[in-house]
Amino acid sequence: MSNYKSGLEYALEQDQNDELQSYRNRFYIPKDQNGSDCIYMTGNSLGLQPKQTSAYVNQELEDWANLGVEGHFEAKTPWMPYHEYLAKSMAEVVGAKPIEVVVMNTLTANLHFMMVSFYKPTKTRYKILIESDAFPSDKYAVESQLRHHGFDDKEGLILWEPRNGEELLRYEDLEAILDEQGNQIALIMIGGINYYTGQFFDLKRITQLGHQYGCTVGFDCAHGAGNVALNLHDSGADFAVWCTYKYLNSGPGSLAGCFVHERHAYNKDLNRFTGWWSHNKDTRFNMRYEFDQLPGAEGWQLSNPPILSMAAVKASLDMFSEVGIDMLIAKSKKLTGYFEFLLKGLGEEKIRIITPSNPDERGCQLSIQVKHANKTLHNKLTETGVISDWREPDVIRCAPVPFYNSFEDVYKLVERLKTILN
Ligand SMILES: *Cc1c(COP(=O)(O)O)cnc(C)c1O
Repeated sequence: MSNYKSGLEYALEQDQNDELQSYRNRFYIPKDQNGSDCIYMTGNSLGLQPKQTSAYVNQELEDWANLGVEGHFEAKTPWMPYHEYLAKSMAEVVGAKPIEVVVMNTLTANLHFMMVSFYKPTKTRYKILIESDAFPSDKYAVESQLRHHGFDDKEGLILWEPRNGEELLRYEDLEAILDEQGNQIALIMIGGINYYTGQFFDLKRITQLGHQYGCTVGFDCAHGAGNVALNLHDSGADFAVWCTYKYLNSGPGSLAGCFVHERHAYNKDLNRFTGWWSHNKDTRFNMRYEFDQLPGAEGWQLSNPPILSMAAVKASLDMFSEVGIDMLIAKSKKLTGYFEFLLKGLGEEKIRIITPSNPDERGCQLSIQVKHANKTLHNKLTETGVISDWREPDVIRCAPVPFYNSFEDVYKLVERLKTILN
């Protein structure tokens, strides 16, 4: 992709030729003080609202108003099997089979429920391996699991760390850890894409390596779902979790996704926390039956789900089904490649991109280290109508999202950054 060109004209031409161009107008874009569209680069934190979301949510409010409890069966989209409609399209987004996917709870909650089943420490094999700069919630969650099972959370936690002077993680180093301590590690839990560096890990490679040493392997794909081709089924991972409010545009704090590999679908010996929604659908309402485990990821549900939130998830997933994740990824690679090209034009003495340069090892996000910068740089950028994310001490994270960001957005962002840096 070396045929990128500088100049606004090139950006506008790319937008003209973009098959997904019309989708931008199907989202609400926040406005700056002058009433112009903001340059929104934080879809990795909170995805924008699809314009059709309100109609989906209103439909459920209306059905509830008109039908009351009958809505479970009589609503336009009956509430009883509502999560099943989501599982199918969600499975396509993350590269899984429908039986492997469920939308339920919130992200960190799902991570804990998965660890109930897949973190089974013994006296000699009890450690958990995570990446050293894991998202804080994930780190707190695994530490608390160690303590819950009576282990020391410092001694029991193994960190996969970057080498001195580097940010990205190397597979040789993971291999070395496993070679040395693999037989003490019960669980490997890695962020599928690291939230800070944007490094997209080879899920299959990590899974194979972990399984070779007898560890269970799970991924937090919060920064991957709706952003990259996760191919969860083929990865062979035991489980994965993700949220739907980042690249999946389902609204603040919305429901989360959960993947359990098909090979565990019918294993009733796999311990778990259960509720009436993990019970066989045919006899669930007989109420007095002995517990009868539902197969697949659905069997990890506990409660009857919040339909109003699910409506927002459905509104977004219907757009993903319409376009297909492959087409989004194709645009994403072009857009982020263009972003990288323009950033390089700013000069190595000013900025350094931390995110891998190989398009297969990243999603749309670029993490940009700005030399000799502090937060005032980010404040200035914000004043120009750019919404981006600042991480201390000197990193700006920007995620041009193929659904609603344009080449023009990226062009303007880099121009504004250039002005401030000069
Ligand atoms: C966004 C994110 C979270 C947030 O967790 P919630 O339970 O949704 O608040 C956790 N882990 C990772 C890796 C994330 O990217």
